Amino acid sequence: MSAENPQQKNDSGIYHFHMDIPIPAYLMALAVGDVEFRAIDERTGVYADPVMLDKAHNEFAEVGNMVDVAESLYGPYRWGRYDILVLPSGFPLGGMENPKLTFATPTIIAGDRSLTNLIAHELAHNWSGNLVTNATWNDFWLNEGFTVYFERRLTEKMTDKSYADMLWELGYQDLEKTTEGMKEENNMKDSHLKIDLKGRDPDDGLTDIAYEKGALFLKHIENNVGRERMDAFLKGYFDAHAFSTITTEKFIDYLNENLVKGDKALAEKLNIAGWVYGPGVPADAPKADRERFEKVDAEREKFLAGTAPASLNTQNWTTHEWLHFLRKMPKPLSNEQMAALDNQYNFTTSGNSEIADQWYVMAIAANYEKAYPAIDDFLGRVGRRKFLEPLYEEMMNTGKEAMARDIYTKYRANYHPLAQGTFDKSVLKQKS
Ligand SMILES: [Zn+2]
Repeated sequence: MSAENPQQKNDSGIYHFHMDIPIPAYLMALAVGDVEFRAIDERTGVYADPVMLDKAHNEFAEVGNMVDVAESLYGPYRWGRYDILVLPSGFPLGGMENPKLTFATPTIIAGDRSLTNLIAHELAHNWSGNLVTNATWNDFWLNEGFTVYFERRLTEKMTDKSYADMLWELGYQDLEKTTEGMKEENNMKDSHLKIDLKGRDPDDGLTDIAYEKGALFLKHIENNVGRERMDAFLKGYFDAHAFSTITTEKFIDYLNENLVKGDKALAEKLNIAGWVYGPGVPADAPKADRERFEKVDAEREKFLAGTAPASLNTQNWTTHEWLHFLRKMPKPLSNEQMAALDNQYNFTTSGNSEIADQWYVMAIAANYEKAYPAIDDFLGRVGRRKFLEPLYEEMMNTGKEAMARDIYTKYRANYHPLAQGTFDKSVLKQKS
């Protein structure tokens, strides 16, 4: 439970939980199953299905250090223990920042700790979200935008700037895609940071606007005031609003009183109203340094000009470099190009869920049938909506409605009701 947990199984099956810190209702969560605990260090540890425990424990070995680094950035971790619960594959989300116990998808267990950035995100929520909570879902960006910013700062401190810059760039690409979609649907009001969900499902606000535009706004502030002032401001913000809720308007007042302080030139540069109450991505949005991705771009260009994959320089590439390499490929590639890449890099059998998912989208677009059994298997074993959505969408968009329907019908029972709701509509064309 999102509380103090008993760490050992017992014969009676009766367990007691204790929580002495008040939390908002959306953070109360209970999981029931055969789970075992293993400590990482004195205050961190992992709960998982016994067959997953070794793998999970190894994947999260750096989490204890991660909490220390987070504290060094924005002040004390105030929740006592920080543990992670690895959920079954039907969990529809990446993670959920339940206090004391982050709930996580098993899809981040890649075997090489390359996807634990998601844990940095959930951990950061213990400041932005759990400690200082958005007052309404219209202010959701205060939870998520702050958390993405915090997460990237944390990741940067644990790796380096060039690594964090790749995350910023990938996030920016997601954001552009989202705002373009909103433009097409003539729905630019949802691209404001402060949104209006009156009469709507709060789930509608769960877009990259809150996450990526929110984070970008904070980076934009950082770029204008310098990192030192920004960090002092954020630390003060978390202290001043600890264990309370906050609206967008209250945040802007606080920002003006504690950072802008009547500096008219700064206020103009920050363009607060444009960012918060305006559409899309403002023209003054910060751009990430693309140094590492430019190298990737060059290798992709070489491949597209006919260089064999074996001759490309992909040494020391991380998950993010591979994702960028694949994402920016023209769609569809020819079957020959797909086969050449696959033979060299074994994408079809990748154990990295992010890379596999991107590759499978490309395989569907290219009618690369060699990957179809792996796609079927992936869709049967993964329940994370972020991964399911692009695959079913690509099938629906490329004339493979029957394939989508067959696979979805076969695995529907494995999926969480949240995911079922999404795909009953998009794949089965059922009205909600
Ligand atoms: Zn989040």
